Amino acid sequence: MDVLEQLVSAVERNAVATEKMLAIAEQEQIIMQEPGPPVCPHCGKLDPVVTELPGEAGGSGKLSDFVVRCETHCCNRVVFAIPNGWDTAVSQELAEDILKIKKGGNPGE
Ligand SMILES: [Zn+2]
Repeated sequence: MDVLEQLVSAVERNAVATEKMLAIAEQEQIIMQEPGPPVCPHCGKLDPVVTELPGEAGGSGKLSDFVVRCETHCCNRVVFAIPNGWDTAVSQELAEDILKIKKGGNPGE
């Protein structure tokens, strides 16, 4: 193997290693991602309007494992929303009151 071939081989190995490192960094970014505002992961629209889609697991499972599968109205693509913490209520009305309070409004309005 001449010097040029060795150099090409080294550059190629370096490129493969860099790609692997980038893949690991990307993976860690996903794991380390802090929960943030509700944004569309496809186009970045803040708090997009969505339509809930039926779950693939038949709608059963632990509350803590619940993932909301929905389609966005901004780009009509499927999004999997992972709730971060829970407020639970015994009725739709109380749930709506909790949402109003969280948004800075008054319950019962
Ligand atoms: Zn979108």
